[in-house]
Amino acid sequence: MYDAVIIGAGVIGCALAQRLSEYAGRFAVVERAPDVSEGASKANSGIVHAGYDAAAGSEKARLNVKGAGMMPGLCARLGVPYGNPGAMVLGFDESDRETLEGLSRNAVLNGVSGCRVIGREEILALEPHVNPAVVAALLVPSSGLVSPYELTCALADTACENGVEFLLDTEALGLSHDAGVWTVRTSRGPLSARAVVNCAGALAGVLHNQISTRPVNIVARRGQYYLLDHSVPLKFRRTLFQVPTRMGKGVLVSPTTHGNILLGPTAEDIPDALDTATTRGGLDDALKKARLTDPEADLRQVITTFSGIRAHEAGGDFIIGRVEGAPEGAFEAIGIESPGLSAAPAIGQELGDWVAWYLKLGRNLSYTAPRPLPKPFSGMSDAERREAYENDPEYGRIVCRCEQVTEAEVRRAIRRPVGARSLDGVKRRTRAGMGRCQGGFCSTRVMELLSEELGVGLEEVTKAGGQSRVLSAPLREAARDE
Ligand SMILES: Cc1cc2nc3c(=O)[nH]c(=O)nc-3n(C[C@H](O)[C@H](O)[C@H](O)COP(=O)(O)OP(=O)(O)OC[C@H]3O[C@@H](n4cnc5c(N)ncnc54)[C@H](O)[C@@H]3O)c2cc1C
Repeated sequence: MYDAVIIGAGVIGCALAQRLSEYAGRFAVVERAPDVSEGASKANSGIVHAGYDAAAGSEKARLNVKGAGMMPGLCARLGVPYGNPGAMVLGFDESDRETLEGLSRNAVLNGVSGCRVIGREEILALEPHVNPAVVAALLVPSSGLVSPYELTCALADTACENGVEFLLDTEALGLSHDAGVWTVRTSRGPLSARAVVNCAGALAGVLHNQISTRPVNIVARRGQYYLLDHSVPLKFRRTLFQVPTRMGKGVLVSPTTHGNILLGPTAEDIPDALDTATTRGGLDDALKKARLTDPEADLRQVITTFSGIRAHEAGGDFIIGRVEGAPEGAFEAIGIESPGLSAAPAIGQELGDWVAWYLKLGRNLSYTAPRPLPKPFSGMSDAERREAYENDPEYGRIVCRCEQVTEAEVRRAIRRPVGARSLDGVKRRTRAGMGRCQGGFCSTRVMELLSEELGVGLEEVTKAGGQSRVLSAPLREAARDE
């Protein structure tokens, strides 16, 4: 019997798991995918939004501002990349001035300080490569950047080190409640718990509507991106938004924490919440809009395209807390579209405390605070590299040339508490395969390391779990025979 079962290992489920692990209890996270951070939490803009745009008085506004305030300290404790370059919301039409002034007033209402509307001259002095047709902008000094999947993986590790069980490749199929006990029917058998927490992202509506008399309508809203190589000097220091639309924050041009440039995302409502395809039309749309900000955006620098699915609830706000219209002991964090990543530290903390209060849990006296992840080899000085090599000669073997990832780091990623089990798992924890060649050179070596560390044959190594084996059938036969 668990005290609480969390459904979904995105940034919200993992932030919640980390907070709950500070309490004495037995907790599990069930995740349908083979790894944590496989949903929206791996495919978003990675912006720590300041909180100027969410409707004043909404949960989105409150938790965005609170979470963004917690983010720098949390990332420092976890050793996760975070930056604070600031942002601008660009207006290209005289009529946009009014919208920008409105956003500035909303920022004050939401408790976001330092925002102000600036004119063309100041914009071009701060960001000389912006389209000179710009008219005005909202300058947002407190906007930040975070690596979303590195944050999620680090939160999961901390929770796991403090006793939370991660049941991956395990889908919650249904929920039922009897005599104060919840049963989570999963693809690997039933789990019993005193409380359940639905953090299932774009699929959360299915579980909510099974147990509540008050149905929700979660729309899958896809966003497609281009990702540009970091080998070219960054043209923009800040995140550059355009004035928001009815569908969200609009298309941005932004640096990432690792010095790439992102162009996107689109906003398309789609029927299938798992359809993360990119489309010609979607990418063309993203590029067209991005070129309003950066007319010179150069597709020769594109190294990959991807898409993520927002969980847009028809009411437009986050829904967090007890599940209304359901039996006792059911909690949820649903409709967590943008700025959900920014709000995650606050959502995890508040919801965790709420669940612990309901369960009457005491503090976990053996809780171990996270140790920051070691500095990546790519970010070390020569002296630090030498010292790392002297302590561990596997730092002397580069596996991924594009991102300068060493064998020591790949092995450590696999050995982490919620460790990598696939090429994509290694990629998200180390960046091996994230660079210009997209794994063309390093995948075979990473496969060998996965095979050695996990004690499985090369033929069993997958790109992303499940049936995604990397070797084709004849090669698998050959590898098995060796
Ligand atoms: C295109 C895009 C851009 C965004 N940009 C930003 C941004 O810049 N800044 C920001 O703050 N926010 C941004 N967001 C929002 C942010 O990414 C999300 O709010 C956040 O990732 C939501 O986390 P989550 O844990 O709720 O969902 P997810 O990360 O989707 O996690 C839900 C998990 O539940 C699992 N699951 C689903 N059903 C089941 C089941 N039945 N059983 C077991 N597991 C299940 C899924 O596999 C998934 O892993 C963006 C989102 C998108 C899509």
